[in-house]
Amino acid sequence: MYPIASHWLNYIDGDWVDSAQHLSVNNPGTAGPLATIAQASVEDAERALLAARRCADSGELTRARPAQRVSWLLRIAEEIRAVADEGAWVLCQENGKSLADARDEFIEAARYFEYYAGMADKIEGTSIPLGNGYMDFTVYDPMGVSAQIVPWNFPVSICARSLAPALAAGNAVVIKSPELSPLGMCVLVRAIVKAGLPQGAINLICGRGREVGAHLVSSAKVDQIVFTGSVPTGQSILRDAAANAIPSVMELGGKSAAIAFADVDRKQLLASVKSGIFFNAGQVCSAMSRLLVQREIYEDIVQAVVELAEGLSVGLGQDNPDLTPVVSAAQLAGIETLCRRAVDEGAVLATGGEAHSELTGHFMRPTVFRDVRADMCIAREEVFGPVLAIIPFDSEEQAIEIANGTDFGLVAGVFTQDISRAMRCVRRLRAGQVFVNEWYAGGIETPFGGVGLSGFGREKGQEALYSYVRTKNVAIRVAGE
Ligand code: NAD
Repeated sequence: MYPIASHWLNYIDGDWVDSAQHLSVNNPGTAGPLATIAQASVEDAERALLAARRCADSGELTRARPAQRVSWLLRIAEEIRAVADEGAWVLCQENGKSLADARDEFIEAARYFEYYAGMADKIEGTSIPLGNGYMDFTVYDPMGVSAQIVPWNFPVSICARSLAPALAAGNAVVIKSPELSPLGMCVLVRAIVKAGLPQGAINLICGRGREVGAHLVSSAKVDQIVFTGSVPTGQSILRDAAANAIPSVMELGGKSAAIAFADVDRKQLLASVKSGIFFNAGQVCSAMSRLLVQREIYEDIVQAVVELAEGLSVGLGQDNPDLTPVVSAAQLAGIETLCRRAVDEGAVLATGGEAHSELTGHFMRPTVFRDVRADMCIAREEVFGPVLAIIPFDSEEQAIEIANGTDFGLVAGVFTQDISRAMRCVRRLRAGQVFVNEWYAGGIETPFGGVGLSGFGREKGQEALYSYVRTKNVAIRVAGE
């Protein structure tokens, strides 16, 4: 247990600064107030943009040999590891997530910096043969100023996911933290700035999305936008970014399906269901929110999943239960509304479906709907809570059709012992990532992103680094050849 400061600040142009207005941050486990944070104004956002612009234009991040950026990033990773326990406590209290998962976020954040440190001095162009009379090669320039908008569900690891490759490539950054869960990111940035980056290289502001977020993404001082969040916000940002034709990475929502064939390893599947939909109270963009089960094993799997859900421990994040509260009263109300709509449309509620009314915090009961039809809202809309929709299927063809039948395409999963069938499904599933026999397989090394309304561009892995640079071609006329 660590003491939590009662008031937190924004980090602008090398200083921690207050604002005239403050935002309240609550504890989802108790529904009570936890702390306040400076609410950045448009003027604060503008100062952060100017600082980042000055830093990017000064060349301070790129003038030295790339090995300097390697050192910065490795030092940052060390500093993050040093605050992991304290940061985890803060994140657990403000977000509701389990203390162990909150700590994992800090360790994952450190890993992003180590991983991209390994690439910071290997951003190499190519030489292009043009025959005699010419030499031609490409260089990768940083984009300049990267505006990064972060959601509340994994604020620390998502912040590091974009910040690490951006710094590795030599960009200056303005980060907008989420209103509901901004404090863990302050602990993260406090650690990061100890590495001694040039002034203005990193700025962290917390403020209203529609006000300061919208200001950032419509500013001509920004060269790139990285957004992780909901589809409507992503669409609004894309419209704002269009005015200045600002390139964007969009990591949006999902309605991802696991397909369980009759030859599935039952234990493996149930372990994946547990993490797939109940980890972080289901508030995961790549959650397993639909489970498609082949008819032969349907009754058995439904029963096992209901038993699993009913056997989950529920409690405060600090006690590391299986199921933690959702982030806010509004989030809880939205989840309950979608559950009621599902019942109205004829989905069969097998367990859960409402809040834990006897608990003070924002606790949703682990919920399983069975006999869901692909056209029901519960099979099409992102719930962002611990709610699973189980759908029966008869053939491989039908399973693929149902899995691909939403507007999203973030991840998908196949559970079978038949490798050929798994590979056929992998080819046909419309998703940025397919898990075979383990939901959430992969790591910071594996590219992540969606198709359709799940967005575009890739984060994580080597591929992500190239979202943070632009290619410049250099063509030289060689006289005398
Ligand atoms: P959200 O869209 O409400 O908010 C995300 C961020 O955008 C917040 O910081 C918010 O302040 C800001 N924002 C809001 N309006 C804005 C505007 N007009 N201009 C600029 N910024 C604005 O999302 P959320 O509720 O915080 O997060 C949940 C959503 O995020 C879910 O849909 C989830 O699937 C998605 N998500 C996606 C990924 C991914 O990697 N694909 C990861 C995590 C979450």
